[in-house]
Amino acid sequence: MIPNSPIRADRIGHDIDALAAITEPDRPWTRRAFTPLFLEGRKWLEKAMREAGAVTQIDAAGNLVGTIPGLNPQLGTIMLGSHSDTVPDGGRFDGIAGVIAALEVARALRDQGVVLDHTLEIVDFLAEEVSIFGVSCIGSRGISGTRPAEWLARESDGVTLEKAIVAVGGALHRPAQRDDIKAFLELHIEQGPVLQNEQRDVGVVTAIAGITRIEVVVEGRADHAGTTPMGARKDALTTAAWIALGVEELARALASGDEHFAATVGEFEMTPNAANVVPARVRMLIDARAELRADMDRFVDELGKGIAAIAEKTGVAVGEPRIVSDNPPTPCDPDLLEILDAACDSAGARHRRMASGAGHDTAWMARITKAAMIFVPCRDGRSHAPDEFATTEDIALGTAVLLDAVKALDTRLQEKS
Ligand SMILES: [Zn+2]
Repeated sequence: MIPNSPIRADRIGHDIDALAAITEPDRPWTRRAFTPLFLEGRKWLEKAMREAGAVTQIDAAGNLVGTIPGLNPQLGTIMLGSHSDTVPDGGRFDGIAGVIAALEVARALRDQGVVLDHTLEIVDFLAEEVSIFGVSCIGSRGISGTRPAEWLARESDGVTLEKAIVAVGGALHRPAQRDDIKAFLELHIEQGPVLQNEQRDVGVVTAIAGITRIEVVVEGRADHAGTTPMGARKDALTTAAWIALGVEELARALASGDEHFAATVGEFEMTPNAANVVPARVRMLIDARAELRADMDRFVDELGKGIAAIAEKTGVAVGEPRIVSDNPPTPCDPDLLEILDAACDSAGARHRRMASGAGHDTAWMARITKAAMIFVPCRDGRSHAPDEFATTEDIALGTAVLLDAVKALDTRLQEKS
């Protein structure tokens, strides 16, 4: 139980179990967006939202939204939520904890007889995880006006994304973008080990890291592995190995400060990949994540210089690193961060500020409104795996923080305007 809070851990635990039960039976806990199970999960959520006093609808972007009108609805909307879809073999908490937390905030307000001045909305965003259409954050991109038009023609099993959005209840002839949302808050499991290791209850997220993906191609030369002398080779793999180690060294240096930085050689293909042939070609894809744009700029710059130096040393040609995709970091709203810090203190939650290395719906919501998020601990930092786990008590404490923040926001937003 949380002292002085109407948040009920038992309800949260019950709801998470109920949603977890809606899973592919042989592959817990799988409920991918657009599947019949996903729709069944949403049916359950819709009912729970209505029981919490909300009016439900599927918005034009395909999000499930529960609305509780405010006393002064022209003030606009405070929105809370996350996503109910999972990755294949995913966890019971990623996204789901945030949707249930939003629901519990609505129930706690109702239990206290509190109606906000602003309208309160609980949202389950459509397809936050990479979906069967190969793209993610479809609902939050829709609502924020950042869903690329060409996405709608993407196909999966002969069905276009456009048709799939309509099939879940969305509508493409209606505008999806919102301009009445005054603030958005999301609770999410950390998906990393920092809070557990530091024995903190809540992470107040300062920014969602930018993600830049860089392709590097090493062009060596295929030769006979038995007859070509060691000094006469153009081995693409050994040069690529130097580069991979260089990426790690550079990333470690950039990660040694307070701001989040990580880089990974996540894809690696070697040709011809045969035992008796000197490797001819390697293609690597580097995934780099930075809280600060300046750190990413430095990484890209130093990577280019480092690669040139390695190519010079080994005598193997390496193409110019090619930036394949580049999303800048999204800072969370400073006013909301202050409100969340204060809410942690009043709920008795040990907290710290931290960046998110993973992408979240909050990053897209930040395009159209003040947005911020909090993390709650998850066991050993495990996520996107069946053994992902967060305690009901930890989620409930985070939810109490959310409730306090919503109440503070309801007043503060009026002072500001
Ligand atoms: Zn998530």
